[in-house]
Amino acid sequence: ATSVCAPLPVLGRDVTVPLVTGGEVTYAALDYAASAPALQRVWDDVAAYAPYYGSVHRGAGYLSQLSTDLFENARRTVAEFLDCRADDQLIFTRSTTDSLNLLARALPADCQVFVFETEHHASLLPWKDARVTYLNAPRTPQQAVETLEKALAGRTVSVEGSHGPALVCVTGASNVTGELWPVRELAAAAHAHGARIVLDAAQLAPHHPVSVQDLDVDWVAFSGHKLYAPFGSGVLAGRADWLQAADPYLAGGGASRKVTRREDGGVDVEWHDSAARHEAGSPNVIGAYSIASACKALTEAGFDALVAREQHLIEKVRAGLAEVPQVKVLSLFGDDAPRVGVISFVVEGWNSSHFAAALSAEYGIGVRDGLFCAHPLVRTLLGSDPQTQGECGAPEAAPGEKSLNAIRVSFGAGTPDEHVERFVTAVQ
Ligand code: PMP
Repeated sequence: ATSVCAPLPVLGRDVTVPLVTGGEVTYAALDYAASAPALQRVWDDVAAYAPYYGSVHRGAGYLSQLSTDLFENARRTVAEFLDCRADDQLIFTRSTTDSLNLLARALPADCQVFVFETEHHASLLPWKDARVTYLNAPRTPQQAVETLEKALAGRTVSVEGSHGPALVCVTGASNVTGELWPVRELAAAAHAHGARIVLDAAQLAPHHPVSVQDLDVDWVAFSGHKLYAPFGSGVLAGRADWLQAADPYLAGGGASRKVTRREDGGVDVEWHDSAARHEAGSPNVIGAYSIASACKALTEAGFDALVAREQHLIEKVRAGLAEVPQVKVLSLFGDDAPRVGVISFVVEGWNSSHFAAALSAEYGIGVRDGLFCAHPLVRTLLGSDPQTQGECGAPEAAPGEKSLNAIRVSFGAGTPDEHVERFVTAVQ
């Protein structure tokens, strides 16, 4: 077995917070699924580069050339990290949400989209202009594949008797249950039915290596701030054809190759075919650079060791929660399903928001409470009624009623054992 490595140094690991019970304690950041703390190494890399940055793809000056090289090298590093195909395009975006909205705008005419109701809102909602089929929550990975196959087989056939374009959007690891989805099998099912597939790897990429070629997905999207880089940057990588055929996501400088006045007074534009087509405006070079730095740091630490460490923490949390009869862990695929370090639960007799607030005030532990931007999934898992369900926030359950929201604990490469041990003690 791979030995469990030490936690990677992250920002904020020495922050202390006051407790209502008196005294103070180091902050236990257990909300990695929302945003992971940036790696110290990423921060150092950025600080070392920051004095030297200049404009990108524009200037003849030394620093502009340097920045352009760093930006394009970052693109190559991340493409390598994702094991992209040689002719894939990698676009730097603001986030996973931005990446999926970009792809949604690049869909060919008449594209049908298939998405499970269990998705994060970032994967559930961007397809609003397309014909969307929302698939019911499966209760096993196998059922997910069968549900998709059935939906794809039954899709609309054109007058000529052929299927139009279709896209499946699926998450690699749930931001609510942490459970892994059968991405390779779903990709095979999509392709067998002439559809394409985009992987929302926001929660998968920080925990497991993602190989576009091995999983055989057409696109992958993830966010820097969940992958131990700072906020503000994300990635969409994959097939170039739909992206090149689409109008630019943003119109402006950088995306346009040639702009000319027409005789009739209007303007003609030739857009780039490369990633630049969808990267109009001055790009977030530091964001791209920091994602590449995080990719390198994770690769160097080695995913085998990181996964072993995370599984060790998952075991601690699950064993600790199992000792409390009032705790119910939320799961779609069952207790034994493989998962990443994201665990949601409810505590009988407690309002989840009050519980999370108590963890913070009395133990210095930061977790998340609510519906985690996956309202349909959390309602399914809680068995709650959408009509009585409140907004994302802190709806109160009446005494004796089902919880209306949940508590989520999540962790990763920077989490010391002490944080999850303190969490378990606090819950107990
Ligand atoms: N997909 C999943 C599975 C997520 O967990 C999240 C973030 N919670 C997103 C997409 C959206 O990521 P971002 O907020 O960085 O756009």
